[in-house]
Amino acid sequence: MSAIADNLQAVQARIRDAAKLAGRAPESVRLLAVSKTWPLSSVLAAADAGQPAFGENYVQEGVDKVAATAGQALEWHFIGPLQSNKTRPVSEHFDWVHSIERLKIAERLSEQRPSHLKPLQVCVQVNVSGEVSKSGCSPEEALELCRAVAALPGLQLRGLMAIPEPTDDLAAQRAPFRQLREIFEMIRAAGLPLDTLSMGMSHDIEAAVAEGATIVRIGTAIFGERNYA
Ligand SMILES: *Cc1c(COP(=O)(O)O)cnc(C)c1O
Repeated sequence: MSAIADNLQAVQARIRDAAKLAGRAPESVRLLAVSKTWPLSSVLAAADAGQPAFGENYVQEGVDKVAATAGQALEWHFIGPLQSNKTRPVSEHFDWVHSIERLKIAERLSEQRPSHLKPLQVCVQVNVSGEVSKSGCSPEEALELCRAVAALPGLQLRGLMAIPEPTDDLAAQRAPFRQLREIFEMIRAAGLPLDTLSMGMSHDIEAAVAEGATIVRIGTAIFGERNYA
């Protein structure tokens, strides 16, 4: 087996163990393989090992990989910051966008979604306490932004996403994930049918699954340390 296939199995085992510990069905957590900075060969190795869904942060790199794997029935998720002048290629090539943080971007994605494709599946990114970057809407804005996004015809609102600051302490890891889940539950209680909590990366899979993640976004634990040089 390739190292990537071994790593995928190890990550699946971490998800399974964390789900069991939380009393959740392991199938309720989907693994998104974050392939940013890695070559097409790494994506193909993971796909050969049975991994169906991939995440990318940079528009051109992502679009190139989507085009190069057309016909393989892979699912592509855009998870990085998105500027308004880059929405068109994302809307034309990706299946999901996790990083909706303002309405303007969502409106452009909706308008630009080709009519022969199913609506773009989207998550609103929320800036929970201890967020690494300043991206994401504030918790107070989340409900209103979700309502507006849910009304756009080219998009299907699926849930929320967050990227908390890395820390080694499990309790500290869980707090922002819990906060995101509470916002998720509040928005569901307000009548929006969200089903996706996109949270958890290589170092905090267990905390995210314990707090209800339905998609974990994993790069390093599958492909290795990234080299941005
Ligand atoms: C890079 C990235 C990941 C993957 O992080 P790892 O620590 O490598 O698992 C997940 N989500 C987002 C938004 C990212 O940018």
